[in-house]
Amino acid sequence: MRRMLVCMMFDTAENFQAIEPFGTNLSQGAADYPGLDEWRNFDVQQAPQWYDETVLEDSLSELSHVPPLVFAGEVDVLRERLAQAAAGKAFVLQGGDCAETFAGATANKISSRVRTILQMAAVLTYGASMPVVKMGRMAGQFAKPRSSNMETRGDITLPSFRGEIVNGFDFTEESRRHDPRRMVQAYHTAASTLNLIRAFTTGGFADLRTVHSWNKGFMSNPAYARFDELAAEIDRAVRFMEAAGADFDALKTVEFFSAHEALLLDYERALTRLDSRTGLPYITSSHFVWIGERTRQVDGAHVDYLSRIRNPIGVKLGPTTTVDQAMALIEKLDPNREPGRLTFIARMGADTIRENLPAIMEGVKAQGAQPLWITDPMHGNTITAANGYKTRRLEDIMSEVRGFFEVAQATGTHPGGLHIELTGDDVAECLGGSVAVDESAFDERYETLVDPRLNHQQSLELAFLVAESLAR
Ligand code: PEP
Ligand code: MN
Repeated sequence: MRRMLVCMMFDTAENFQAIEPFGTNLSQGAADYPGLDEWRNFDVQQAPQWYDETVLEDSLSELSHVPPLVFAGEVDVLRERLAQAAAGKAFVLQGGDCAETFAGATANKISSRVRTILQMAAVLTYGASMPVVKMGRMAGQFAKPRSSNMETRGDITLPSFRGEIVNGFDFTEESRRHDPRRMVQAYHTAASTLNLIRAFTTGGFADLRTVHSWNKGFMSNPAYARFDELAAEIDRAVRFMEAAGADFDALKTVEFFSAHEALLLDYERALTRLDSRTGLPYITSSHFVWIGERTRQVDGAHVDYLSRIRNPIGVKLGPTTTVDQAMALIEKLDPNREPGRLTFIARMGADTIRENLPAIMEGVKAQGAQPLWITDPMHGNTITAANGYKTRRLEDIMSEVRGFFEVAQATGTHPGGLHIELTGDDVAECLGGSVAVDESAFDERYETLVDPRLNHQQSLELAFLVAESLAR
């Protein structure tokens, strides 16, 4: 056995220093807090053109009075966890849909996504020999940036689909209208999703032994025989823990955080509340929020707004990023260099990560900054299949992950985690895997409304591949 891993399997709060997550209320609105409306003076990229000003005002007023979805104390716990990851002592897994849908917020779909993330996390915990901080692109991942404002089909041109928080996917004028009431529906859908996630992750569903038994089910497929040795090691580690009297009751509760792209500033502003302990503003729609590749302009509205809130935040960095841009983002978003505050999510593409990332990572390090670095190996690897579907190859995704690890190692930076678009269902959207998905399956099992996701099996296979690479 490569190593005897015991305590690292404790991926609950127990493995981290205890932090008091409660004793906090966020009932106060943030109406007059200085600076929170500055973003309105900037260029707001990707902003919807809401169809009616009064409906917009009514919807935002309603959202400014609803209860928070997350609490400031939980958000602070996440910042501590991310600080540990930035210091090389934890690994982060963010996963979920490219775009959640209202109809997709069912018990089955939510539980299978949570289950997939927990299964991946168990494997990665072993591979990394570290606690894994688990986050869903869930309970709020509804808004999508688009490269084009309009979409043309045949001789009809309509506004592009921007996620169900803005408009509908159906290609009709009515559905594509930007309707502010959708923000209220998104809030309620996020609330019920998060409620179920909280129940699953604290109600025994997430018990490590249960998760481990699901992974044994996955491994019973001979297609995955190449992972037999690794799976057997994990099995021995779990049995050793049990024999040694590990407190499995404590493992029944797992910390699971929510995350989404903070694209829709109207929505995020309305859900910002002041923490009663400190009087500081928190976005309460999610624990973690990130800024996308298309809205990361340092003098843009999104960077301004997120610079003013206390949540840990991420920024996607695509292949055109320069060291100066990365440093300017650090200056603006994390001027105090607070551990855990800022995560850079590199999404370069398998072909270019080894060329583009080293200078940025080195430059940031040379200037004394220590953001958390994680890899999004999805968004730089999107291709169009011969039959017209937008897809990604599992081998390109894995190649970018390997490139990320290589660059991190060469620059003495901790490769802090993974950001993946995935689902717990048996869809056919990405190509490859040991139980191979090919293009012929797309007509039957391609469900995503925006970007292609790894299915349940491809996600687990990726976790095993990454665990192998980490354990080497
Ligand atoms: C996304 O995460 O779905 C996305 C649009 O990513 P990016 O901003 O990196 O393109
Ligand atoms: Mn996407």
